[in-house]
Amino acid sequence: MIQKKAMLIDISMCVGCNACQDGCKAENKLAPSEEKRLSPTAYTALSEHNGKFVRHMCQHCDVPTCVSVCPVAAFTKTAEGPVLYDANKCIGCRYCMQACPFKVPRYEWASTKPRVQKCIFCAPRITKGLQPACAEACPTGATKFGDRDELILEASNRMQAEPGKYVAKIYGQKDVGGTSILFISPVPFEELGFDTRLGDTPMPLLTLSAMSKIPNVVSMGGVMLAGIWWITNRRAEVQHYEASLKHDATSKTQE
Ligand code: SF4
Ligand code: SF4
Ligand code: SF4
Repeated sequence: MIQKKAMLIDISMCVGCNACQDGCKAENKLAPSEEKRLSPTAYTALSEHNGKFVRHMCQHCDVPTCVSVCPVAAFTKTAEGPVLYDANKCIGCRYCMQACPFKVPRYEWASTKPRVQKCIFCAPRITKGLQPACAEACPTGATKFGDRDELILEASNRMQAEPGKYVAKIYGQKDVGGTSILFISPVPFEELGFDTRLGDTPMPLLTLSAMSKIPNVVSMGGVMLAGIWWITNRRAEVQHYEASLKHDATSKTQE
């Protein structure tokens, strides 16, 4: 049986060295300059919150919304966990950007042949039995790669071994139906910019795509309304975000 892989990110152990981003960029042959937020050339980035550092990257959801909304199946979920993206299939509709609950996929606005870009959980490395480049580069063990079940157990053990050190939640264990990227933290996740209101229901159940497959829409009225509310808000967020990225790309071209 294929074991589902994951990464456990212990925020109490992260020193903000950025080696994870450096390792990722080297592995994926991306421009080596330090970037503070996700971009087509930064598949992972760090944000700082009162001295605590949080990694951002694709969460490799167990039931990924990007997969469910893509009309040409450019996104696929693998049995080991990575959510992959095939640029050759992509038609540039950017539904994935609107649907992702973690605001991950980025678009190459400055390119004449733009693609969506995001972390692929170093799938080629995992297939070879290697760990992802970011986990290998982490000097403190703050990012640890392994089997998902074992990492969840390890996270629970760390919490029990030092009562009061961590908040009582493994972010990603159940959120949006579970993800391959798991976090434990010494401060409430809300204070670190995590969205803790996403719930445990896989997001595809809240999208229009999934609704068309639900036979009894009336009994799912609450879910449907939540879905419409969520999608409407998400669209507005993405439009605002895309406008800022287009502005950045235009400024860079003019420099
Ligand atoms: S975090 Fe977003 S891009 Fe990554 S698998 Fe989940 S829905 Fe897809
Ligand atoms: S798993 Fe690989 S692609 Fe994803 S952030 Fe880590 S190094 Fe980058
Ligand atoms: S390499 Fe490890 S310690 Fe350094 S910023 Fe990344 S997760 Fe934190």
